[in-house]
Amino acid sequence: RKGTVVITGASSGLGLATAKALAETGKWHVIMACRDFLKAERAAKSVGMSKESYTIMHLDLASLDSVRQFVENFKRSGRPLDVLVCNAAVYQPTAREPSFTADGFELSVGTNHLGHFLLSRLLLDDMKQSDYPSKRLIIVGSITGNTNTLAGNVPPKANLGDLRGLQGGLNGLNSSSMIDGGDFDGAKAYKDSKVCNMLTMQEFHRRYNEDTGITFASLYPGCIATTGLFREHIPLFRLLFPPFQKFITKGFVSEEDAGKRLAQVVSDPSLTKSGVYWSWNKNSASFENQLSQEASNAEKARKVWEVSEKLVGLA
Ligand code: NDP
Repeated sequence: RKGTVVITGASSGLGLATAKALAETGKWHVIMACRDFLKAERAAKSVGMSKESYTIMHLDLASLDSVRQFVENFKRSGRPLDVLVCNAAVYQPTAREPSFTADGFELSVGTNHLGHFLLSRLLLDDMKQSDYPSKRLIIVGSITGNTNTLAGNVPPKANLGDLRGLQGGLNGLNSSSMIDGGDFDGAKAYKDSKVCNMLTMQEFHRRYNEDTGITFASLYPGCIATTGLFREHIPLFRLLFPPFQKFITKGFVSEEDAGKRLAQVVSDPSLTKSGVYWSWNKNSASFENQLSQEASNAEKARKVWEVSEKLVGLA
């Protein structure tokens, strides 16, 4: 049978390119889990995905109710869940003030981490039940949260500190809107959220890989400088960033190629190792990359997991 893959944020950028790459193989049915139905429908059409290769299902990761609703709808669809890709993200590098999710969490961490945390926890049972031979849960990471790299050392650096802001609910009222308890910084909040994504993947691996056989993986697909992720950046940045990445850092990767990379992590028979953070070298060959000290800290991973459980109502 065809595999069923759920991809969050499949209405643009990396998620869309991955949906297209997988749909084209004829081996996958793609559930596009998106907050904007019409945009997703137009996006699927614009890249030429055939009607029977995908289903759009509403998901707003900035609302825990919506996440629960999505999970219910998915279960009711009767489809098995073979692979889940947590891809959606928001990035607010120029925001001066924090904005918040429906549940009152700072938006970047609330969407990128907490929404996906609840989603993947609630869908784990469905994945366990699937009889697909190679089940995978993939959480898209980033180099920017990795302070062992050049890109990860551009200030403000990711730093979760002692998690006091997260513990306080990240609401900007009786706690800070930042995980480490500091002043709001949109670029840092994004990087922190990506560290949470990478830690969550590893904690999933430690807790569930042996018992379930599910592969848990993260990746850095390369710098896809043309996606909507940079939509809130200043115009000059948006103009100069793609050529900078192409010609200076040479880290640039097209949306299409990045989509093929993520599609490999979804379905390539050679990428079944669990607990791995994949990257690609200059020749576009995949390799197991090293995470920074903080992004591979097992104690922090456990703490982020436990605090997040409380915030999303699982504990
Ligand atoms: P895009 O902005 O193009 O895509 C992000 C997607 O997330 C969009 O489809 C967007 O929906 C969706 N989204 C945002 N908020 C929500 C929400 N509340 N509920 C549901 N969906 C939501 O960015 P990219 O394709 O670049 O980013 C995809 C992933 O790749 C992210 O995890 C990012 O961190 C990662 N990444 C990107 C890099 C890059 O250079 N671009 C580098 C490394 C990692 P909508 O279309 O409705 O806005």
